[in-house]
Amino acid sequence: MTIAKTLDLVQAARGNGYAVPAVNIVDAHSIRAVVSAAEKANSPVILQTSVKTVKMLGAEVLAAAYRYSAAQSSAPVSLHLDHCPDRAVITEVIKHGWDSVLFDASDRDLDTAWAETREVVAEAHAAGVAVESEIENIIGVEDGVGSDVAVHSYSVDKLIEVAVDTGTDMIAPQLGTAHGQYKSTPVLRQDRAAEFAAKTDLPVVLHGGTGLAAEDFHSFIDAGIAKINISTALKYAYMQGSLAHLKECEANDKWDPVKLFNAIEANVATVIGENFEIFRSAGKGA
Ligand SMILES: [Zn+2]
Repeated sequence: MTIAKTLDLVQAARGNGYAVPAVNIVDAHSIRAVVSAAEKANSPVILQTSVKTVKMLGAEVLAAAYRYSAAQSSAPVSLHLDHCPDRAVITEVIKHGWDSVLFDASDRDLDTAWAETREVVAEAHAAGVAVESEIENIIGVEDGVGSDVAVHSYSVDKLIEVAVDTGTDMIAPQLGTAHGQYKSTPVLRQDRAAEFAAKTDLPVVLHGGTGLAAEDFHSFIDAGIAKINISTALKYAYMQGSLAHLKECEANDKWDPVKLFNAIEANVATVIGENFEIFRSAGKGA
């Protein structure tokens, strides 16, 4: 069985030429697809849930589906809560066995974000749960969380000071990327990632990866990025795999839900598997 710790996976990647893919799953089909892609590539993987997915399916069901898949997987798999400004949801997922959480305090002013992050870290660490922290907002709205404009931005030194003071385990800063599909070419900040790597050992997380080229990911990994989040790409693979199959059903007038589930899982596994190669995590699972 390979139920892994998020922080172990990310710390092993940091400075070793690869990043751990952190994929936002939405149900048991996407969990199966991502875990099978990780096994095929022998890659570590972090399964992430948005707050929206937790509220839709329930923490108990998601945790059970994760444990069932991870326990049978030959690849190491951990379970993480993505962008969560709601502390009650953090308490809920800690209770149900999530291994790490992103406390998103980027909608608070600095003093409030600082104080609340300290409290969340204390609560999480008491349960053996790691904390990714976001106090300056990553651009774009994802599953109802976030903003399309920079509301709070700080210096790298200030972000490190807050992270160290609060006991944060991973930092999610602005790196020029955005959630969702890009409407214009982003100005990527590999220089900022490198500044973090030079000043702190804390792992840094890249959000908004969908739409970047392989060389962009490589330059971010070379600059020290240890965890790369993938959400939009899975949503597209899931829905477009579904649409392609449903068009076939319509053309042939044959309607078998199990075949639809297989088609979705196959398309998600293919698309996410490509990321394991690009992030150079393939072969790092053992
Ligand atoms: Zn994000």
